Amino acid sequence: MPKCDACGNDYDKAFQVIAGGKTYTFDSFECAISTLAPTCAHCKVRIVGHGLEKSGTMYCCNHCAEQEGVTELRDRS
Ligand SMILES: [Zn+2]
Ligand SMILES: [Zn+2]
Repeated sequence: MPKCDACGNDYDKAFQVIAGGKTYTFDSFECAISTLAPTCAHCKVRIVGHGLEKSGTMYCCNHCAEQEGVTELRDRS
């Protein structure tokens, strides 16, 4: 039985995700997100959508990027 990399649960419908050349096994999207999704540098929310990246730092939205002093992203929205 495959085992979830996040919570260790054995689950016959587990699925695999390849990220950064590594293969992960998860029993749920919640576990996949908690392991793989980046966190907003400002509000710490999990970024499940596209998010914004500036110099390797991820933000969930323009507002958060602005709060951290990133202003160059504003023009794109
Ligand atoms: Zn799990
Ligand atoms: Zn945020």
